Amino acid sequence: RAKSDGGGSVRFFSGDMNRVAQERVSLETAMREALQLDQFTLHYQPQVSGRAEREIYGVEALLRWEHPELGNVPPARFVPVAEECGLMADLSLWVLEHACTQMADWRRRGIPIPRIAVNVSAINFRDPDLSLQIASCLDVHGLKPDDLILEITESVMLDPNPDVLENIEAIYVMGVRLSLDDFGTGYSSLSHLHRLPIYELKLDQSFVRDIDSSAIARTLTSSVLRIGESLSMKVVAEGVETDAQHAFLAEQGFPVLQGYLFSAPLPPGDLEQWLSRNDYVEMPADAAGASPP
Ligand code: C2E
Ligand code: MG
Ligand code: MG
Ligand code: MG
Repeated sequence: RAKSDGGGSVRFFSGDMNRVAQERVSLETAMREALQLDQFTLHYQPQVSGRAEREIYGVEALLRWEHPELGNVPPARFVPVAEECGLMADLSLWVLEHACTQMADWRRRGIPIPRIAVNVSAINFRDPDLSLQIASCLDVHGLKPDDLILEITESVMLDPNPDVLENIEAIYVMGVRLSLDDFGTGYSSLSHLHRLPIYELKLDQSFVRDIDSSAIARTLTSSVLRIGESLSMKVVAEGVETDAQHAFLAEQGFPVLQGYLFSAPLPPGDLEQWLSRNDYVEMPADAAGASPP
């Protein structure tokens, strides 16, 4: 139909572009409102020991947005828009503040959760205020730096912006630890791994997904574990869904596992019930390190 006149395909294309642009603008407006109206919530997904039964290593905070008309909007849809329209600073502050409030509450009530992981966008690391905001958030809630893990992506390591390095350094000096999320899917080379103070590696779930069907995925999975261990990093496998994946990862010696097999991300009350129903205890502090020879 775009062929009926010479300009048809162009008109079709720009019409499509318009629709995408309009969607972005309305998402942007809706997000600004959502921050005001508290439409965002955090769900928490447990990260469990791969080596011992019923030990919890920590939880990952994941943003949820329930819009009155749009319904549940997944972060994969709104996070990129927030990054583009300059809303990510506010959104990440919101997440940090709510995650720390929740963690402090769990601590006060003796809920066994050793640490909380928060996803931080690469773009947040360009904000010269980031490390100070983190420090003040911990302080306000009476948390220790090692109560918090920041999950970053490989793009942070590739960002030449000097503010990024300054933030990373300040965060390291403070004692807040960095986790490299979605490891194995980005563009960075292995040589970046030892340039930055990475505490933890999260093997991307695409490798875990293919464990049952692909010998290459199995080889890459165990290789990433060995690389991480030889650099004294914790290694987390995410996206664990099946008993077969669990068995393979446990046999390889993965210290920390995360995925629907154990639990989906849950509202805080449901997570507390899940922990007590399954008799979880905190993983001992040094249990997630390199496996014994
Ligand atoms: P991520 O940080 O890699 O988070 C893991 C994603 O995998 C989450 O999706 C989680 O719900 C999902 N997941 C957990 N277990 C399984 C499983 O067994 N199988 C499968 N297929 N998926 C599983 P979610 O919550 O939709 O988040 C998607 C991405 O959005 C996150 O990926 C993260 O990059 C981003 N995101 C989520 N919350 C935040 C946030 O607070 N701030 C920032 N900057 N990004 C966020
Ligand atoms: Mg993450
Ligand atoms: Mg991930
Ligand atoms: Mg991610």
